Amino acid sequence: MSHRQKVVIVGAGIVGAAIARVLARSGADVVVADRGPSAGGTSSGGEGNILVSDKGPGAELRLTQRTLSAWARVRAELRAELPDGFPDLEFEHKGGLVAATTTAGATALLAFAESQRAAGVIAEVVDDARAHELEPDLTRDLTAAVLYPQDAQVQPVIATEALLASARRHGARVLQGVEVLGPVLSGQTITGVRTAAGTLPADAVVIAAGPWSGEVAARFGVPLPVRPRRGTVLVTSRMRQRVFHKVYDADYVGAVGSGAADLMVSSVVESTAAGTVLIGSSRERRGFDDRIEARVLAALAAKALLLFPFLADVPVMRAYGGFRPFVPDHLPVIGADPRRPGLWHATGHEGAGIGLSLATADLLHDAMLGLGDPNDALRDEFRLDRPSLLPHLEGAAG
Ligand SMILES: Cc1cc2nc3c(=O)[nH]c(=O)nc-3n(C[C@H](O)[C@H](O)[C@H](O)COP(=O)(O)OP(=O)(O)OC[C@H]3O[C@@H](n4cnc5c(N)ncnc54)[C@H](O)[C@@H]3O)c2cc1C
Repeated sequence: MSHRQKVVIVGAGIVGAAIARVLARSGADVVVADRGPSAGGTSSGGEGNILVSDKGPGAELRLTQRTLSAWARVRAELRAELPDGFPDLEFEHKGGLVAATTTAGATALLAFAESQRAAGVIAEVVDDARAHELEPDLTRDLTAAVLYPQDAQVQPVIATEALLASARRHGARVLQGVEVLGPVLSGQTITGVRTAAGTLPADAVVIAAGPWSGEVAARFGVPLPVRPRRGTVLVTSRMRQRVFHKVYDADYVGAVGSGAADLMVSSVVESTAAGTVLIGSSRERRGFDDRIEARVLAALAAKALLLFPFLADVPVMRAYGGFRPFVPDHLPVIGADPRRPGLWHATGHEGAGIGLSLATADLLHDAMLGLGDPNDALRDEFRLDRPSLLPHLEGAAG
């Protein structure tokens, strides 16, 4: 693909927004089409954590390490590009504290942290006294704790809108309320996109439709094993700050890495700038069932009380949730679809798409324009036809 070509991006979530920005800056003629409002999908239904703490050595950790430096660069660029008064991205290196409360949990956590350190993660084992200095209200039943100062966060909706605003400044168009229905083909090659509002010419199409990417890919005639994995977060009323980091129980890492369809709950507790405390997180595969269910809230609350007993008496204000874009091997799909010339994917980030959006966009940009290091190992790790995904490519639509 050359720099001047026409690209249609399906989805104006944070992943589509980040890609639109880098491609438009490189001179491509970019249209982003979303059937709803921008940042109205999963990117508005989750937190904005950018975590190294929950990632073991491997491709996703390396993408996260790349994304942390990308956020530092892009924040500075956005500050220079966007008008005064554009809301702040609320980027902060808040740091994560992972706590174990059982002997088995402690053994697993310390071994995990050691493997992470070998892969370049800052993972400091802290003793009880230090853990309680960091989090005075943390349970006294600690068996181990590890501090991850690199863990960061961003406000996902503001970040998405900022990336889209920057893309627009470089010529991109963002169409809201425009559903993509399928391709216009010449033979097997894509020459355009059919939408509910007419046809858009395209030399390349990027599917960045989050948990709906499987459905969108099916409209382009190719199965893609991206499915929704529901997550729910409980929000307390405002209070004086009593939680200072992102605090997880040691089970969180196991829940993230598990592909189980049944409900999995582990504690992720943190304060917001507004004074509320967010209590996550559940993981469950139940299709696009968006009900907020009492059994899930009860499980979330019970786990959180193990970390912070004071939460027992705190009033709850609301709950919200969304669908993580789940792929069976837990890695995103970033790159060309060899089955359909002109079709590209940037999806399947599950619970890490906010954080990984920038590195994803850089990787896809370089692959689409034939730039960057052709030997960049990460390109192969996330390709659609990687060995771990091949068994899932047949009949995976929906
Ligand atoms: C409870 C919860 C907590 C989370 N916490 C975090 C976190 O702390 N950190 C983190 O990094 N990630 C987190 N995530 C995951 C993160 O939210 C997602 O990985 C990310 O938002 C995916 O972004 P996206 O742009 O791929 O998808 P989306 O934001 O879902 O955007 C896809 C867009 O595609 C559009 N679309 C779908 N079909 C069509 C069509 N046919 N035509 C046109 N448009 C279409 C949709 O309307 C939508 O706007 C969390 C998720 C949940 C549910």
